[in-house]
Amino acid sequence: MGNIISFNGSVSQDDSLSISNGLTDVLIDYLLLSGSELAETESEKRIIIFLAEKQQSIIGLGNANFAMTDIPWDTETFESDKEFMLQVTDYAKELSTRETTSEELGYHPDKKMLEYALNGFERLIKRMTVSAVDKDNLKEWFSDRDADDPVICGYPKCEKHGIFLSMHGCKFCNDGVPKAKTISDYIKGSEIKSRDIKTDILLSVSIAVLFVSTIFLSNLISIKLSPLEYVYIIFVALLYGMGMVSRDIKHWILKWVISIPFSSLVIQFFWKTDFSLRALNWVLKDYGKESAGGRFAGFIFLCFQFICCFISGIASIVAGKILTDHGRYEEYEQKQVIAEIAVAVFIVSIVLFLEMNFPSAEYVNAMINS
Ligand SMILES: [Zn+2]
Repeated sequence: MGNIISFNGSVSQDDSLSISNGLTDVLIDYLLLSGSELAETESEKRIIIFLAEKQQSIIGLGNANFAMTDIPWDTETFESDKEFMLQVTDYAKELSTRETTSEELGYHPDKKMLEYALNGFERLIKRMTVSAVDKDNLKEWFSDRDADDPVICGYPKCEKHGIFLSMHGCKFCNDGVPKAKTISDYIKGSEIKSRDIKTDILLSVSIAVLFVSTIFLSNLISIKLSPLEYVYIIFVALLYGMGMVSRDIKHWILKWVISIPFSSLVIQFFWKTDFSLRALNWVLKDYGKESAGGRFAGFIFLCFQFICCFISGIASIVAGKILTDHGRYEEYEQKQVIAEIAVAVFIVSIVLFLEMNFPSAEYVNAMINS
């Protein structure tokens, strides 16, 4: 047993959507989330509430059948409402790719099945025309409603879930959906889970090591292997962008913010160990202090590095959006973490190896002062 969503109740139509009870619930949940966020006019809210009334936990399994012609369309606003419903379906598709939505709902839908249901629903909406609207339907839909029915008393939303209430109350409350959809819950709850935050910290530390070490290493390469320093900086910028690819812009900012304190720790390491001065005296034996020319060259590399990483950072936002939209982000993140950590470990090994081979700071200072 399941439900049939049809054009006009006739199931012989080959575009009617025959789906299981479970998939019906999933479809309604996603349309409800999407529509509750997008609906602005009364006619738009009515259509979303019509869907919200298809609550199988109240009306019984297999009783959520409906036809496009059952929807309380208003002939006056039909064209814009139809356009609205196509937007709601589109946005529901986008929500279906977000990990945060499944966490909010407390279940992971079968993405292929949900896509199938949303595509079928979209096809039926597209088929609907104003001439197919039964004018009495809207009036009938309003009749016999109690005074406290949400469609009579101003279309309230659930305070916990932010979705429109129907005569049956909030579908998510009735179905026991745990999470509330508020900004603070996003921050405290679903979006930043402990697993995510560990991954984000590991990535941010790797990015900090990569970025800061380049400031010092590119200078060293410019003395020893010029002009490879530019190739090196471009390569680093690429790795930087790959590490910054994030689920969405909030996630991107979070990683960037986490990397700041780690970056300052890495900078302190290079400063405290007099890395630059000792590197110079390692390449050019007993060179002494860094010249003004050397410092200027270092400044040019620094500017070049910042510009490259800035461009790469912007590209990473776009890449993250594309991956999330195609539901490929999680898959990417697994490889991203391994690759970035491997690079960071490699850099740390190089720096430690160099450290051991550099002349000591005492030696360099004594030589400069002698
Ligand atoms: Zn609720």
